[in-house]
Amino acid sequence: MPEDASVERVGTADPERVEAARREAAGADRVIVKAGTNSLTDADSRLDRVKLDKLVADVMDLRERGTEVVLVSSGAVGAGTGRLDVGPESRDGVDSIAESQALSTVGQGLLMRHYTQSFERFDQDVAQILVTGTDLDAPERFDNFTNTVEKLLSWGVVPVVNENDAVATDELRIGDNDMLSASIAIGLDADLLVTLTDVDGVYTGNPKRDADAELIEAVDDGYERLREIVGDGTATDFGGIRTKVEGAHDVSRNGIPAIIAGSAERDVLARIVAGKPTGTLFVPETGDDDE
Ligand code: GLU
Repeated sequence: MPEDASVERVGTADPERVEAARREAAGADRVIVKAGTNSLTDADSRLDRVKLDKLVADVMDLRERGTEVVLVSSGAVGAGTGRLDVGPESRDGVDSIAESQALSTVGQGLLMRHYTQSFERFDQDVAQILVTGTDLDAPERFDNFTNTVEKLLSWGVVPVVNENDAVATDELRIGDNDMLSASIAIGLDADLLVTLTDVDGVYTGNPKRDADAELIEAVDDGYERLREIVGDGTATDFGGIRTKVEGAHDVSRNGIPAIIAGSAERDVLARIVAGKPTGTLFVPETGDDDE
C-alpha cells in the first residue's frame, strides 16, 4: 500500500477509458494549443527563438494533417520585460500591474513578429486576436470572437490569441491564459485542448523539488484529490500548474479531452495525434458518467 493511497488513486484511471480518450485526442479535427511564457522565453526573459520555432514546427505537424489549430500564446509581458529591462519590480503592487500591462504591449508586437516569421517558413498565415475574459463572457462579443475565428480557420489561418493585457484591469494574473484557453476550447467546440508547459505533465509533487514525484498519466474521477495535491503548489511563478489543471478539468467536464504536456518534448503534438501516451491526459466526461 503506498504511503498516501489517495495519491495513487489520482493515477488509476480505467485503462479502457484512458485508451478511448487517447484515440479521441488523436482524431481531433480542431485543437486549441496553449503555450506558456516559460515555453517561449529564456532565463533573461527574452523571447527564445529556438523554443518558439519548435512550437511552430509542432503546430505545423497538426496543420499538415489538416487539423485546425488555435494557438493561445502567453509571453507578451515576459518578452516586454526582457526587451526593456524596466521591471516589474514587484508583482504585487498597483505599479507593477500598470508596468506589466505596458510591458505586454511592447512584448506582444515582438511575439507576433517572431510568430509571423517562424510560420512563414511553412507558408502558414497567422492572425493576432487579443481578448479579455469580459469579452468572452459578453454574448455579443463572444459571438464576434467565434465568427472571426471560424472565418480564419476556414481560410486555413492559425489564430494566435492572447489576453488583451493592456485593458484587462483586474486580470493579468498568472494562469489567465490557462482559463482563457479552456473557455475558448469549450466555446469553439474544440476536440482537444493541449496545454504546453515547462514540465512534461502533472506530477504527484513538484518535480523541480521532489525527486520522488511521479508523472500522473491520466486523470479521470480522481480530480478532487489532484486539486489537493496541486492546490498549494506553484501559483506564484508564471507557469503554475494549478490553473492548468483547473483549465484541463473544465474542458474535460465539457466532454473534451485535455492534455498537459511538456513543450520541450520532441514532436509533442505529433505524438499526441499519433495516440502515444504523452503528458497527463484528462479523460473527458461523457453523458453516461455519474456526476
Ligand atoms: N497574457 C500574459 C502574457 O502574455 C500571460 C498570462 C498567463 O501567463 O496566463 O504575458
